[in-house]
Amino acid sequence: MTSSAESYRTSLWSASAREPGIAPDAFTSSRSVDLAVVGGGFTGLSAALAAAERGASVALVETRTIGWGASGRNGGQVIPGLKLDPSEMRATYGEEAGSRLAEAVGSAADLVFDLIATHGIDCSPRRAGWIQAAHATTALHRVQRRGREWQALGAPVEMLDRDGVRRLTGTDAYLGGWIDRRAGTLQPLDYARGLARAAKAAGAAIHEQTRATRIVRDGDAWRVDTTNGTLTAKAVIIGQDGYADGLIPGLARSLICVQSAQVATEPMPKALRERLVPSGVCTSETRRLAFYFRQTADGRLLFGGRGAVGDAENPAFFGALVNAMHRTFPDARSLAVTHRWSGQVAMTLDGLPHIHELGPGLLVGIGYNGRGIAMGTLMGRWLVGKAFDDATLPLPITTLKPIVWHKLRTPAVHLGITWAWIRDRMGFAG
Ligand SMILES: Cc1cc2nc3c(=O)[nH]c(=O)nc-3n(C[C@H](O)[C@H](O)[C@H](O)COP(=O)(O)OP(=O)(O)OC[C@H]3O[C@@H](n4cnc5c(N)ncnc54)[C@H](O)[C@@H]3O)c2cc1C
Repeated sequence: MTSSAESYRTSLWSASAREPGIAPDAFTSSRSVDLAVVGGGFTGLSAALAAAERGASVALVETRTIGWGASGRNGGQVIPGLKLDPSEMRATYGEEAGSRLAEAVGSAADLVFDLIATHGIDCSPRRAGWIQAAHATTALHRVQRRGREWQALGAPVEMLDRDGVRRLTGTDAYLGGWIDRRAGTLQPLDYARGLARAAKAAGAAIHEQTRATRIVRDGDAWRVDTTNGTLTAKAVIIGQDGYADGLIPGLARSLICVQSAQVATEPMPKALRERLVPSGVCTSETRRLAFYFRQTADGRLLFGGRGAVGDAENPAFFGALVNAMHRTFPDARSLAVTHRWSGQVAMTLDGLPHIHELGPGLLVGIGYNGRGIAMGTLMGRWLVGKAFDDATLPLPITTLKPIVWHKLRTPAVHLGITWAWIRDRMGFAG
């Protein structure tokens, strides 16, 4: 059995990256910086870039290489918003704060595509929209209500009937849905590498193969011990998402990490490229155990869904994924599957990303629930605003709370998956 962690090497993105890996900076001696960043994914890279651009001295440490975590292995669907509808944001945080949050997260995809344009990142960006496709009638009503809420706020959103989804995706498997034209797609590893290049150009030092092992208060600064030396920093930003290790006690136990797996086919012949998800849109369905799919820039069908629980990859899950792809797109049966890989998705109990401030200027942004491209990029900027300007953030800072039943997570996740499966069969929306 192979390991999910190591499947980074077999991903389509590793095989097809056009942005070269950065030349990492050598960690030659212990030193002081304004900001130390832990984690070379979208959260950490976006923070490093934003801080370096404002003239701060920045050092980012990454255990492996840039984009090795979820950032370099995801589905490349750049989706704005949170899993809460705008009305739910207002109900949860109050009219004013909820509206401010909706506005901020609603523009998260703009930030991603602006950064790509500003820094000339070679990541095949395409902004044709994201479809949330309904598998059942109750789900259709629920997501179209969501779509109408965004529409009322002026977002470029349309409701789709069955024909509309079929026209845009080439599958008849859904009853309808909505399309959010703010969204788009990219090659995620290229995007991560491009952010790293931009952060370096702005003056940030990036240290790959360097793991942060301990963070302690040292006078009015933080001392970050790493496998290659020590950083002393006024502020520390941590972006580990589904790859949280023991660095921050209790952080990994505040999340439920589940594997998401993907398969990619060989490049499709022209006739199929014009039929299967032809319009450049990306799609996820309303099932809680959702499948998601798109066509890549080089004309492959990319199909993702639930993977095994834990780090071991289970071939049966890839088999189930390929079967689901064939059910959704019967024409794909003729295509060879050339790439299979997986990664960890960090879920939170409330379905929302969390910001923790563990001491003055020691900040964590985590728990994107499978929506971390736009939100992780935005989070990095938010945390820099908090660290340097004590900005009031659109999401409240929460206390780090390990989940009490975390030791039982494997059976709990299995139970949760069974419950989600039952709800999917009953037609509830995710
Ligand atoms: C298969 C899959 C598909 C997905 N599809 C989508 C999608 O289509 N759209 C979307 O928006 N989101 C998607 N996501 C979620 C998204 O990829 C993540 O939420 C996002 O990449 C998280 O970024 P991050 O920077 O916070 O964490 P990561 O990218 O996971 O980076 C964390 C990094 O921290 C490093 N690290 C950990 N501990 C230490 C330490 N002690 N010292 C130094 N470095 C450390 C790790 O090596 C890792 O590289 C998907 C996720 C997966 C796994």
